[in-house]
Amino acid sequence: MKNSSVQIIRSKKDLRVQVKEWRMKGLKVGMVPTMGALHHGHLSLIKEIQKHVDKVVVSIFVNPKQFGPHEDFDKYPRSETTDIKQLEEVNTDLLYAPEAGEIYPDGFLTSVTVTKITEGLCAAKRPGHFDGVTTVVTKLLLQCLPDVALFGEKDFQQYTVLKQLAKDLDIPTEVMCGKLIRDDDGLATSSRNMYLSPEERQIALEIPKTLKQVIAEIEGGAMPLQEALDKGTQHLLDSGFKEVQYLEIRQSDNLEPITQTITETSPILARVLVAAVVGKTRLIDNMPIKILF
Ligand code: AMP
Repeated sequence: MKNSSVQIIRSKKDLRVQVKEWRMKGLKVGMVPTMGALHHGHLSLIKEIQKHVDKVVVSIFVNPKQFGPHEDFDKYPRSETTDIKQLEEVNTDLLYAPEAGEIYPDGFLTSVTVTKITEGLCAAKRPGHFDGVTTVVTKLLLQCLPDVALFGEKDFQQYTVLKQLAKDLDIPTEVMCGKLIRDDDGLATSSRNMYLSPEERQIALEIPKTLKQVIAEIEGGAMPLQEALDKGTQHLLDSGFKEVQYLEIRQSDNLEPITQTITETSPILARVLVAAVVGKTRLIDNMPIKILF
């Protein structure tokens, strides 16, 4: 029987000591980086990684470098006590909850950049966001040195970027993707959903409905790709979204756009991805789609 209480560590030194001890016993270590305000999406990542490793480290760090100056860093939900209870429920071994100084000590001067796949989609309206993500994840992976790290399909561009990061920088961690979890009404589970009023939540539900509609129209051959996307964008605006930042289809493996010049005989595996703002809340979602020209 596993001990259900979670070990809490706040310094990289103590984290390294614990992970080294596990390693010396031949145990495999997994890491799930989060910003806390945990929900079913995070918990499903923990349950998934437990199938691949012996010990699981969950980190909670609200990373200031990935928020823009006018974004919600200050009001981002922080709920460590509730988070710890949830971590206990899924038998998490260790919570790494560093103070800001453990990640960005005085005099910190480095930024990590992945190019190309960090252009467009979420980056278009969030300049500097992915540099913040890649910098903090590089630090977390190097502080912990897990065998496996799991990131959610919900942030599909982020997962793609982090897989590239670990490969390019020879970080000895296998980067894996955990499936996107939705609430019962179909909305992708997110820490930011708690910002939504009941009316805004009703509007937000049009996101998964629109993605499904776009997929049906394109896969069923009823509509050319761009026409279906334009119709989907207009539908979201008509439903009450203040802004549709993007509704696009990209190839799953490299996030390249789909062009008519691709002449595959088998379907191209792609994703339809969206970011839209309802009230003051920015929501993202994505679903797989098969494209055949
Ligand atoms: P966050 O705390 O929002 O930074 O997310 C931490 C990790 O949980 C990231 O890898 C996210 O992609 C993942 N995640 C967030 N929401 C979901 C969800 N609904 N389903 C699956 N993974 C998720």
